[in-house]
Amino acid sequence: MADYLANAGSYPVLPRMKPGDLIEALPRCGPEHGEPMSAILEDFRKQIVPAATHWNHPGFMAYFAISASGPGILGEMLTAALNMNGMLWKTSPAVVELEQVALDWLRSWIGLPEGLFGIIFDTASTSSMHAIAAAREMIAPEVRTEGGGSGLVIYTSEQSHSSIEKGAIAIGIGQKNVRKIPVDVEYRMRPDALAAAIERDRAAGLRPFCIVATVGTTSTTSIDPVEQIVPIAERYGLWLHVDAAYAGIAAVAPELRHILRGCEHADSFVTNPHKWLFTPVDISVLYTRRADLLRRAFSLVPEYLRTAEDPRATNFMDYGVPLGHRFRALKLWFVLRYYGREGLAQIIRSQIGWAQELAGQIDAHPDFERTAPTPFSTVCFRYRGTDEENRQILERVNASGEIFLSHTVLRGRYSLRLAIGNMQTTRDHVQRAWELVQAAFREPVAARSSVLE
Ligand code: PLP
Repeated sequence: MADYLANAGSYPVLPRMKPGDLIEALPRCGPEHGEPMSAILEDFRKQIVPAATHWNHPGFMAYFAISASGPGILGEMLTAALNMNGMLWKTSPAVVELEQVALDWLRSWIGLPEGLFGIIFDTASTSSMHAIAAAREMIAPEVRTEGGGSGLVIYTSEQSHSSIEKGAIAIGIGQKNVRKIPVDVEYRMRPDALAAAIERDRAAGLRPFCIVATVGTTSTTSIDPVEQIVPIAERYGLWLHVDAAYAGIAAVAPELRHILRGCEHADSFVTNPHKWLFTPVDISVLYTRRADLLRRAFSLVPEYLRTAEDPRATNFMDYGVPLGHRFRALKLWFVLRYYGREGLAQIIRSQIGWAQELAGQIDAHPDFERTAPTPFSTVCFRYRGTDEENRQILERVNASGEIFLSHTVLRGRYSLRLAIGNMQTTRDHVQRAWELVQAAFREPVAARSSVLE
């Protein structure tokens, strides 16, 4: 692990293989008798690592670049060694109580109000699905027993993550009842359009029940005006969920607290330490001030899981679909303690600074343009040419093995997307990515040799 992490940057960031290559290279059946660990590790090095996309590579700037920090990895190892299932307080007080402590530290670091209930799920998709189910419990409690719930409508922006629509699909709201509210020029949900859509649905006899705002949308990291959405949720008595999966963490820096303005009034809020808090995948945190409704939506206790009631004990199985509850809080606690709030803020600040510098360079270049504002460390931009030319630039840069960028489509135009979030990424890596992009619009970038060749 130490060797790998020290050399993550020397692999091609994207593996040079085609679908099926690894399956082909591995035996069809597992071994009848056990094999020596040395042989297993050898195959790990020779077959698995070369098939890996190296998220820990400093040149990984696609999607939301994330990395596992040393303390986080150590926490994950100890979690595996302890191998506890914290479904009930009794099945491991350490799992349950450390989660409460670590989530409360994080809550106060990002400036959310005291008294919120926090719970860890695997991903933001799962967290948001639970929030949407709690929202339904508030407006249509009969659905838990009766099923159905026809006429329920949920509102989110056309830039929100697909997990919101999927969450609605999963709990039976129906895709046609997910309203995608238009955005303004900076890709933020338009409150006027939101209120109008709710009015229209009420007039049609439908039942609006939930609004999902986003702080840090996936394509451009835009920030919905939560402060203006709160009064709309209040006026119509709707649940307000905030998806801050990526960007919420940035509020550990006091000068960025403003990004969560209004979120103190939200009914629920999700942020992912596995995105921008250097904690290994997977860990997503859901906060809610309506734990009673989350519990009412999901609590179902069979006889074999009954424990002597002690009102001070939290049983996480009561607050969601999963019964089992992994000890994810340990790795988070390691990260929070090792770096401290200010240490984490410093890393995030530097990454935002490099993105701002790049944004300025793009603005100053006659052949490139930015396609969205850059509030965090993700830069959306394009070559002032055709979509096909931009596609080629992306392909050429990614073929270098040095840098991995992704893309999005904004107002119908293909955009390149560079996201900085990896601990090993430095200003030089960002500048190198920019060099490669500029070179690629003229000619193919030469693929770099790697330690594997
Ligand atoms: N919400 C936002 C804003 C995201 O950007 C993403 C993923 O990038 C998600 C939700 C989904 O995250 P997860 O993979 O944790 O479900």
